[in-house]
Amino acid sequence: MALLQISEPGQSTKPHERRLAVGIDLGTTNSLVATVRSGQADTLADEQGEHLLPSVVRYTATDAEPEVGLGAKQHAAIDPLNTISSVKRFMGRAVSEIKHLGSQLPYDFVDTEASVPRIKTVAGEKSPIEISAAILTSLKQRAEQSLGDELTGVVITVPAYFDDAQRQATKDAGKLAGLNVLRLLNEPTAAAVAYGLDKDAEGITAVYDLGGGTFDISILKLTKGVFEVMSTAGDTALGGDDFDHAIAKWIMEQAGINDEASNKLGQNQIRHLLKVACDAKEALTEKESVTISVTFDEKNTWSGTINREQLNNLIDPLIQKTIVTCRRALRDANVKVDDVQTVVMVGGSTRNLRVREKLGEFFAQPPMVDIDPDKVVAIGAALQADVLVGNKADDEMLLLDVIPLSLGLETMGNLVEKIIPRNTTIPVTRAQDFTTFKDGQTAMTIHVVQGERELVSDCRSLGRFSLHDIPAMVAGAARIRVMFQVDADGLLSVTASEETSQVEASIQIKPSYGLTDTEIETMLRDSITHAKGDVEARNLREQQVEADRVIDALQIALQQDGDLLEEGEVKSIEQALLELHQVREGDDHRKIKSSIDKLNTATTEFAARRMNNSIKQALAGHQVDEFD
Ligand code: ADP
Ligand code: MG
Repeated sequence: MALLQISEPGQSTKPHERRLAVGIDLGTTNSLVATVRSGQADTLADEQGEHLLPSVVRYTATDAEPEVGLGAKQHAAIDPLNTISSVKRFMGRAVSEIKHLGSQLPYDFVDTEASVPRIKTVAGEKSPIEISAAILTSLKQRAEQSLGDELTGVVITVPAYFDDAQRQATKDAGKLAGLNVLRLLNEPTAAAVAYGLDKDAEGITAVYDLGGGTFDISILKLTKGVFEVMSTAGDTALGGDDFDHAIAKWIMEQAGINDEASNKLGQNQIRHLLKVACDAKEALTEKESVTISVTFDEKNTWSGTINREQLNNLIDPLIQKTIVTCRRALRDANVKVDDVQTVVMVGGSTRNLRVREKLGEFFAQPPMVDIDPDKVVAIGAALQADVLVGNKADDEMLLLDVIPLSLGLETMGNLVEKIIPRNTTIPVTRAQDFTTFKDGQTAMTIHVVQGERELVSDCRSLGRFSLHDIPAMVAGAARIRVMFQVDADGLLSVTASEETSQVEASIQIKPSYGLTDTEIETMLRDSITHAKGDVEARNLREQQVEADRVIDALQIALQQDGDLLEEGEVKSIEQALLELHQVREGDDHRKIKSSIDKLNTATTEFAARRMNNSIKQALAGHQVDEFD
């Protein structure tokens, strides 16, 4: 029994009255879950003591639930088709929008006209929403296990630039995972909350987020405890991975490996080289200089040292790029560098001392680095969830966000009329009047679009609906008021009404790339009632499809790059190909699978050579990039 009960103002003292709420940082590479306990927000660890959950999901034919996290990540290389990483990049995207990534991705997208893309796995077709839901489910289980009860509600963070469809997809994933999503919160806003900046009176905060593969900068404005995102900018292909590439290139130069020799490096050697580069980079955060040694092959190893100054020379051009982007964000927000009161650092790469130093120079003040840059977003989300679930006084923290892209309507001539410009604070309601353009016109189609461009075809279509029963009048006489409403989660509804007759029509923009409630229900039901009987049939069909895919892909590869192979190698590949052709006609999915595996083994070296070719091209491209 407690001898003394200490309570915080506005907080319940009785444990049973305290509702469990968590914040979830659903990241591209890693995800985290955090909660507030005894007034302190912190992330929750799994049974092994790990806080970061790799955002990787692996489906297997036998298990009801997919494997999520480190275990899944370790299978990415050997089971690429069933192991999905970085699914966040597909959230809220249409098939057509991700198809162009096809050749770079190991996944097998279902060729479908449906708006939500699906990836073929041994456990069936999976949408990005279901895959994200698997990650969320894993975090939910972790939270319920360590908190000992069911969760009342969660706050999930999303990038500030996520559009309506991407936000809706994230919410759907939460619902599918059985979570009560209290709201979505912008990642930079969460970081600012973690630092308690909402307790300050006012000021402008810059949130600088440099991760492994992406960079984001957001400018926030705080007025009387209310946050507003004034602008966001970033680069989806810039991060710590690029630091690693720059170091790897330097090592090759030092080791005297010319272009021709680097061409011969296998996939594993390149991976090893990048790992060495990454380790050196991270070690240089603590030390002035480190010794590195790389084994290119049995006869060829190189070792040497790299110091901070050398590292700085390599990464300065990359850091400079982020500063140029910061300048743009400030310009968009219409604020000067001097106006920025606080700079908050997010993302693993902000541990790098040069990044901190350069940022400090640019903003003329040291950035905030006290909270672990990996955890800061989840911690802010947890603080917000704690308020929303009613553990604190309601008015303690009210967060405002902005819409990332302008919302508008299609008007005559295929043009866009913007109703709510981008970076407008939400929730927001705006109305505009339109009229008919033909005498006696009794119906009107409202086409809602999102984007910055002038032409409808350059913007994204969010939905259409029609207003009927407009009284017949001469052209230009009717007054049709169209109202756009965006709620606190960034979700839009549009209403159109004719003034004299009061006829009205409206839609809730359930964006075309989200799932309907019915679909979600069906999926939930399916996952429970899926009969064992059809598993065998499905496995067979899937292995056949997989076999066809492998055969096709190999034939194309042989056509394109057959000259990378010796005659003997071609023979053994053709032998394995023939075997697969034969078993594919049978009805034993295990045999087909083992034939596919055999063929994969027979072509590993071939794949490595092809990969090496393309990586070399990528590294060469990178070099050009760096000096522009
Ligand atoms: P993402 O947001 O892309 O998931 P993270 O925020 O987890 O990525 O950041 C990962 C990056 O941070 C990697 O490039 C990693 O090498 C880098 N990083 C982690 N620790 C350090 C360190 N101590 N010094 C420098 N870079 C680091
Ligand atoms: Mg991140």
